[in-house]
Amino acid sequence: GATVNGGSTSDKVVFSFEFFPPKTQDGVENLFERMDRMVVHNPSFCDITWGAGGSTADLTLEIANRMQNVVCVETMMHLTCTNMPVEKIDHALDTIRANGIQNVLALRGDPPHGQDKFVQIQGGFACALDLVKHIRSKYGDYFGITVAGYPEAHPDVIGSDGVATPENYQKDLAYLKQKVEAGADLIITQLFYDTDLFLKFVNDCREIGIKCPIVPGIMPINNYKGFLRMTGFCKTKIPAEITAALEPIKDNEEAVRAYGVHLGTEMCKKIMAHGIKTLHLYTLNMEKSALAILMNLGLIEESKIARPLPWRPPTNVFRV
Ligand code: FAD
Repeated sequence: GATVNGGSTSDKVVFSFEFFPPKTQDGVENLFERMDRMVVHNPSFCDITWGAGGSTADLTLEIANRMQNVVCVETMMHLTCTNMPVEKIDHALDTIRANGIQNVLALRGDPPHGQDKFVQIQGGFACALDLVKHIRSKYGDYFGITVAGYPEAHPDVIGSDGVATPENYQKDLAYLKQKVEAGADLIITQLFYDTDLFLKFVNDCREIGIKCPIVPGIMPINNYKGFLRMTGFCKTKIPAEITAALEPIKDNEEAVRAYGVHLGTEMCKKIMAHGIKTLHLYTLNMEKSALAILMNLGLIEESKIARPLPWRPPTNVFRV
């Protein structure tokens, strides 16, 4: 069953780090050095994304294996339905099961590059719900399953005014509930910058009977252009005070990063003040902002930051 403790039952606040597969072999090695420095802070798990359209399938599988068995951190692998006939899905699941990985983030995925609507491929799945059902029916309780939740509703139903209609928002929630009822253990949310919207989403989920832990996905602002690109793509609401704070410093990268750490810290403080004990950090493969936020929150020790690399065995000892 689920091994990821997204729903901390003690008073301790737990956190997790998300990474994506780098484009080059050097990038991969850098990422593993970074992970070694980050896991000393005891994240409850780390996860690795599945490149859009399955573009990084082999690399994601390899990285997940190395995270679980060489970095030795509880690992969750993302898996999407885009371009994936069931044989490929099962190959991915069989591979990670053989490597001792017990956590999957089950996603539909975005439409393939150049298309704007998701289309189910022959022999594949139409949505994350299908994937969750498949994993439960074929693999029983072996995997802990996480699914994606959208505090502002999925971008497909966000209108040109930047919001989803109340009806579409409720439909999205009802669908999320179906994913949980089909076997998901945990929800991680899409990034957001309006903390009140996240807190409302949690209440709305509870109101319709979603009981599993709902983990806020926090993306520290690192870079102004990247922030605009990401929030544009996800149709994320940007509160006026954030725009006002960023506008005068947008060309000063260091100031933007410092503001990102400040904002992330304040968002997490507010979330924790509402009794939520789980934080998921979208690291974008960078360590400083995520660690600075956790340090500000008193969740990690400064003395452990950037300590010398621990020795680890050569990388050819793991199985793929
Ligand atoms: P679904 O849960 O299937 O839902 C998508 C939308 O369709 C929702 O609005 C839902 O209400 C509607 N819908 C679908 N099926 C039904 C149905 N049967 N009945 C009613 N409504 C339905 N993408 C990647 O490519 N790789 C990643 O690694 C990745 N990681 C992510 C991690 C997180 C935490 C999040 C939030 C997103 C991630 N994504 C990733 C993006 C994700 O793939 C896209 O947002 C995608 O468009 C939707 O995936 P989903 O699993 O949320 O889809």
